[in-house]
Amino acid sequence: MSRNDDLPASLPGLIMTRARWEGCTNFIGGSWQRAASGQTLPMINPADGQVIDTISRSSSGEISRAIKAARSALDDGEWSRLHPVDRGRLLMRISEMIRAHTDRLAALEAGDTGKPLSQATHDITATARYFEFYGGGVDKLGGETIPYLNDHDVRTRREPHGVTGHIIPWNYPAQIYARTLAPALAMGNAVVLKPAEEACLVTLALTELAREAGLPPGSLNLVTGTGEDAGAALAAHPGLDFLSFTGSPTTGTRIQSAAARNHIDCTLELGGKSPQIVFADADLERAIPLILNGIIQNSGQTCSAGSRLLVQDEIAPEVLARLQHAFERCVAGPPDLDPDLGPLISARQCERVNGYLSACNDDHVVARGTIHPEASDAGFFVPPTLLSGLEPSDPLMQDEVFGPVLSCMRFADEADAVRLANGTDYGLVAGVWTCDGARQTRIANALECGQVFLNCFGAGGGVELPFGGVGKSGHGREKGLEALRQFSRLKTIVQWTG
Ligand code: ADP
Repeated sequence: MSRNDDLPASLPGLIMTRARWEGCTNFIGGSWQRAASGQTLPMINPADGQVIDTISRSSSGEISRAIKAARSALDDGEWSRLHPVDRGRLLMRISEMIRAHTDRLAALEAGDTGKPLSQATHDITATARYFEFYGGGVDKLGGETIPYLNDHDVRTRREPHGVTGHIIPWNYPAQIYARTLAPALAMGNAVVLKPAEEACLVTLALTELAREAGLPPGSLNLVTGTGEDAGAALAAHPGLDFLSFTGSPTTGTRIQSAAARNHIDCTLELGGKSPQIVFADADLERAIPLILNGIIQNSGQTCSAGSRLLVQDEIAPEVLARLQHAFERCVAGPPDLDPDLGPLISARQCERVNGYLSACNDDHVVARGTIHPEASDAGFFVPPTLLSGLEPSDPLMQDEVFGPVLSCMRFADEADAVRLANGTDYGLVAGVWTCDGARQTRIANALECGQVFLNCFGAGGGVELPFGGVGKSGHGREKGLEALRQFSRLKTIVQWTG
């Protein structure tokens, strides 16, 4: 391990002017370090395929050191002595520092992920909001007293799990970092976080801001590397007390198996195939732009993307015509032009999405957007695509494509709509478009998923809103005050009072 002693005491200024990390990307026990092996991974700009930086390719040794640092922060570090209100103030301070650096953080996020600058700016605002929300939530969740026998007193106590492991994906690096980290810290856990190897530069900058804000050593540790090395080593480590994972169902199964072997609990957020259900009485002026945004946001690389459109027979031609118009006007381009959508994250993701599209008969294609003439040929651009006339069993109606592809089917009545909507292995979110209030409630109650939007669609939105799935979408709830419950465990204390 080589401590990088030549790093300046205060990095944010440098980071924000695009300083290179050049592999010094592990934050363990309060200091930035390189991987012992000296191995690195390139960070690629998805808009032009160029290498923009390098990160450490860490392995089990770095993970063990990070877990040890987290454990000592809990056992006898400054972190263990902070009052809840002081933890809250620290989170609030991090939030303020993120706000103060919004523009530079957004530029970093846009360059790393390819997302349009305005969306990256929104992501950083939400990132600050997570730290603010959980900073304020620190001292709001208490235990209770329970009526029991007359000569006994019973109370419950919420305690941190201990050392929590967090594995996050590349689609919303800033937001998901904050979504999982802030509630864990709020409840007094010590964290070891592994960001995704495809895009993580903003998580390094955010970690440095947290250090500057005064977060005690060991309370937050970050280790970069691949999923197979650093990720698997973190998930399998017996020193963990809880695991939080956001990513693909395949990796989610591995994470849950690893958690089971160590007898610890885990939260899995694994994506979806979320339906937008449009009834004949829907307000289309309102619905169409939000349905479009629900699939082009982040180029469809959003767990809660509305990727299946279910339309009632009688308005299907009108809905498709309006959406055709909207899709054909959409332009994919590099982030600094602030286009409707950016590139996909990687060549691998591009191949995956194009694979689905080339397996689909051209007769199903209703509309395609375009790619901006200034976009680099080496970028990973896929124009948004609207498909219709697919069978419910078609992979495009069943699989999470994770690209800007909206697949449409018709339904006859309410029962048909619910059957189709619930007819995948996933269950994350759903949008319902109807002006009939009683129907809104019937459908919302019948849908098998974690969030339902009635005449609105907030893919990814709402720090306050509990979020999570059923079935292949995972389990556990993040966001809102629910996350504070997830990141703590309940102890029941029974006292004989004589
Ligand atoms: P994707 O296929 O879209 O990249 P993944 O689920 O593989 O989604 O990746 C999400 C996160 O999980 C990333 O941080 C990645 O490094 C990590 N990861 C991938 N494979 C493993 C694994 N076997 N064990 C632990 N973490 C992993």
